[in-house]
Amino acid sequence: MPDYTTIIGLEVHVQLATHSKLFCGCSTRFGAEPNTQTCPVCLGLPGALPVMNAEAVRLAVMTGLALDCEIPAYTKWDRKQYFYPDLPKGYQISQYDLPLTQKGRLEIRDDKERFASKEVRITRAHLEEDAGKSSHDEAAGKGDSLIDLNRTGTPLLEIVSEPDLRNSLEARAYLDELKLLLTYLGVSDCNMQEGSLRVDANVNLHIETPAGKVATPIVEIKNLNSFRAVERALDYEAQRQFREWEETGKKLGEAPKTTRGWDDVAGKTKAQRSKEESADYRYFPDPDLAPVRTSPEQLAKARAELPPRPAELREQLTREHKLSPYDAGVLVNLGRPVLDYFFAVVAKCGDAKAACNWITQDIQRTLKYRDREFAELNLPAERLGELIALVAKGELPTARSREVFEAMIDSGDDAHSVMQQLGIGAVDESELIALCQELLAANPRVVDDVKNGKQQAIGALIGQAKKKNPNADPARIRELCLELIAKM
Ligand code: ZN
Ligand code: MN
Repeated sequence: MPDYTTIIGLEVHVQLATHSKLFCGCSTRFGAEPNTQTCPVCLGLPGALPVMNAEAVRLAVMTGLALDCEIPAYTKWDRKQYFYPDLPKGYQISQYDLPLTQKGRLEIRDDKERFASKEVRITRAHLEEDAGKSSHDEAAGKGDSLIDLNRTGTPLLEIVSEPDLRNSLEARAYLDELKLLLTYLGVSDCNMQEGSLRVDANVNLHIETPAGKVATPIVEIKNLNSFRAVERALDYEAQRQFREWEETGKKLGEAPKTTRGWDDVAGKTKAQRSKEESADYRYFPDPDLAPVRTSPEQLAKARAELPPRPAELREQLTREHKLSPYDAGVLVNLGRPVLDYFFAVVAKCGDAKAACNWITQDIQRTLKYRDREFAELNLPAERLGELIALVAKGELPTARSREVFEAMIDSGDDAHSVMQQLGIGAVDESELIALCQELLAANPRVVDDVKNGKQQAIGALIGQAKKKNPNADPARIRELCLELIAKM
């Protein structure tokens, strides 16, 4: 069987987090009664004139800068003509040949190192307005369709990548990193269920044959409603294209680009239509809107206001705080509020690794168990920092720190008062030695076993020690018992 490479490019439409639409003052709030957030402009009524939302442009420029894009000084709006019932004007205001941002890049990586880190080139990111939402009742056996125009005119940023992705893992990593970046920038809520982030995938194969390399026709996959769906659809489509090539031998250029829809239940892509060429859309500059000019001063200001990107934060965590790349990745994935909490804990206790463990493991486990959000966590960063410092100083036995942590969350008290309430304190070394001597005297069999090389026999004493003194540190008990037996 010949070898093939899968060639993937992604188009991501992100709804920008503005309060009002791109060319009118209507609200962009999700979930309102259908057709209650409309006006003559977004309904496309005759004589209504659009006015550009400067906040949408600001968010788009910020995203472009974060993707290392060029921001041209001059950009304009174009009309993309097509007919569909959810597009009342008969055209979408978009950007054609002069996008707001272009030629950027995004580095992708894998925590589990299943692929090498690489840079994915960004072709462009342009602004456009969204269409309305149609719901078809065919499934219910009825022929009627309903149209909700609340979404019409909502600002979208369309981010187009070059075909640099080679498999579904890389595509997933690209989407994860892009979503993380957009979330850190605060430009979108990226809520896929509400349609704030939509993905289309362009895919074809490069097949090695004895006669040379052959490319299969490009297919655009639509209706990808989750990142998991993107992965599954890409894996399915690569295999389908290979089978199709074996059966028909059809090459790129011999067949038009087609669109296929992903059916998540069937686990298959299904033919939809042959794709329009851009000439079919009759793009032309929108005569109702002035071109957008970005001055060097505006750009410098935007650059200065750019918040740190996830990649920079991971780098800071590994360089300044000496966390492993894996830990840094986990921490950054938890989001900006958790990361700020981490910095505050470290400021208090000075131990980044311990802070990271508590936050990424204990706190996450507790939140899950209690079914709480991070924002509801009843544990100020300074208090967790104090808890970590007490353990480091040996004043709080590690073995009981988790118990103190849970009690602090329950009561809202600080570590000191909780330790007092639970009767927890550091154990005097001489007390521990006395305890070990007592245990060894009462368990001669264990002593014999250890002398005969069975060190694990000590385990039987640890439980007994904990019962007699809950503050006793198991690791120290083990060490002391072994030392005492060696002297016997
Ligand atoms: Zn409107
Ligand atoms: Mn688009």
